[in-house]
Amino acid sequence: MIHFLNCFTCKARVPRHWQSGGLCLLIETVQGLVLVDTGLGQGDYLHRSGILRVFQVLTIVPLIPEEAAVRQVQRLGYQPEDVRHIVLTHMHFDHCGGLPDFPHAIVHLHRREYAAFTGRMRRWTDLAYDRRHIAHGPQFALYDDTGETWFDFSAIRLPFEPEMWLVPLFGHTHGHCGVAVQTETGWLFHVGDAAPMDLGDYAPAWLVKLVLGPHAPRLRAFKEAHPEVRMTTGHMWLDFFEDVQ
Ligand SMILES: [Zn+2]
Repeated sequence: MIHFLNCFTCKARVPRHWQSGGLCLLIETVQGLVLVDTGLGQGDYLHRSGILRVFQVLTIVPLIPEEAAVRQVQRLGYQPEDVRHIVLTHMHFDHCGGLPDFPHAIVHLHRREYAAFTGRMRRWTDLAYDRRHIAHGPQFALYDDTGETWFDFSAIRLPFEPEMWLVPLFGHTHGHCGVAVQTETGWLFHVGDAAPMDLGDYAPAWLVKLVLGPHAPRLRAFKEAHPEVRMTTGHMWLDFFEDVQ
């Protein structure tokens, strides 16, 4: 069972009808609840970071505290401690801000992403890292490439049932990954911020490559070739969250 949570509503100034939600997946597994990305956390609502303030200038961010993943987990009838594991596509503030709300969870991500987050700045998108998000000292499980594949993507098997894979899609950040999850109805491939919203084709290719990395064409081709695989992106149209409930 997968719950699709919107943990970061964000609206474009122009055009106004561009309204998006940050997609987090709450997955029931044999190993307990697994949360893929966290969105903003409760701390972000209390103390807005510099990068969040910049985001609020560029876009309209209503900042709705009820969107914090921990609040949504509780509304679904779980305790925060039930979230045993968190898998991160990458560590931008809008994807890992909720880590402090789940201090007991083991945080799974690619070693390159952890290194980029904790190391010196490499590229301008690193400005979206907020080091306060791991100040509580969570336990990490870091992954390296293993030579395995999921479909024709190089991929790393995560230690959960149902089957789950970390799919390196570097570019948006140094260690950005997608996550593939086996569901009752087939595979879900969540590509994070490696492609524009819902894999749409509304921005110039050079801009997509600059901001999101080089994978969007390949991911669109994969979607075309594999209609049986459901694909989602880190930010989805707001309608998506109404439709999946
Ligand atoms: Zn990002």
